[in-house]
Amino acid sequence: MFLKRLLFIIISIVFISGVSAQSTIVEKYGQLTVKGTAMVSATSGDTVQLVGMSLFWSQWMGQFYNASMVKTLRDDWKATVVRAAMGVEMGGYSENPAEELIKIREVVDACIAKGIYVIIDYHSHEAHKNPEMAKKFFAEMAKRYGTYPNVLYEIYNEPLQYTSWNKDIKPYAEQVIAAIRTYDPDNIVIVGTRQWSQKVTEAAINPIADKNTMYTLHFYAGTHKQWLRDEAKAAMEKGIALFVTEYGTCDASGNNNYDPVETQLWFEFLDQYKISYCNWSIADKDETASALKPGSNAYGGWSDSDLTESGLLVKENMIMKNKPIFDTLVKNEKVKVNKEKKKK
Ligand code: MG
Repeated sequence: MFLKRLLFIIISIVFISGVSAQSTIVEKYGQLTVKGTAMVSATSGDTVQLVGMSLFWSQWMGQFYNASMVKTLRDDWKATVVRAAMGVEMGGYSENPAEELIKIREVVDACIAKGIYVIIDYHSHEAHKNPEMAKKFFAEMAKRYGTYPNVLYEIYNEPLQYTSWNKDIKPYAEQVIAAIRTYDPDNIVIVGTRQWSQKVTEAAINPIADKNTMYTLHFYAGTHKQWLRDEAKAAMEKGIALFVTEYGTCDASGNNNYDPVETQLWFEFLDQYKISYCNWSIADKDETASALKPGSNAYGGWSDSDLTESGLLVKENMIMKNKPIFDTLVKNEKVKVNKEKKKK
């Protein structure tokens, strides 16, 4: 009798752990929401820090927008998030909407299939000049993807220096968020800030009334130093949540001034505050910010000899941060495998 009961308990434990086993990053964290200055997991309530890669402007590096490349980023680089940077002006979505949509959907669908997070980035410097186009695009995205916890919407990459948070960016963001919320009540929206997404304190003084909205901070380690970390800290002290959807290890232009020492200072800062971050970028353009050397395979499967010095630094940091998280999933997969074996 006792043995039967013991057996029942053991079988129950195996069954329950099998059911709750998390085989992907998105299964582990689930729906993400904003709580104060943090992005938190719906499954555990813990703060989530995603570390991943941004792709380059889709109209110029569209060949990298494929599922095989996404697989390499997840499996070899241990990326937990990928940012699809849909170019809007300069030959992008505004001129070729169908073509750019195919690329974005390819990456978003691949991230969903592979169980990682994905940022749909409206890669524009002057998006507030045409809110109708952005509303149409994001309504379509929210309608299609709003039920997937994988998806985050970045609605304005880098507003230029001349823009006004109060008069241009915030009113634009409120309209686009309303369009998203018609179809998707909860997925996180990330809003760019003035001066190439640096002036986060301006947003902190006058934040948007949407509980799952975060604000963009971008840095390039060769240009942006302690003063920008101070700006970020001041914004968080006012209570807003930040997401570094783009950072570079070099000069803000994307070329020269490779600065691994300052990049390390930034990593320490981001880790201290558990701020999520994506590196600019997966591209083989001949410039310092590119993670890949010219001529690298657009379908992934890269060896370290294909990577630039920036790419190597970024990949190594990502593996160090994310591999322990992926390892918890592998263990869970093993639980499932054992269960299957026992059945036989
Ligand atoms: Mg949703």
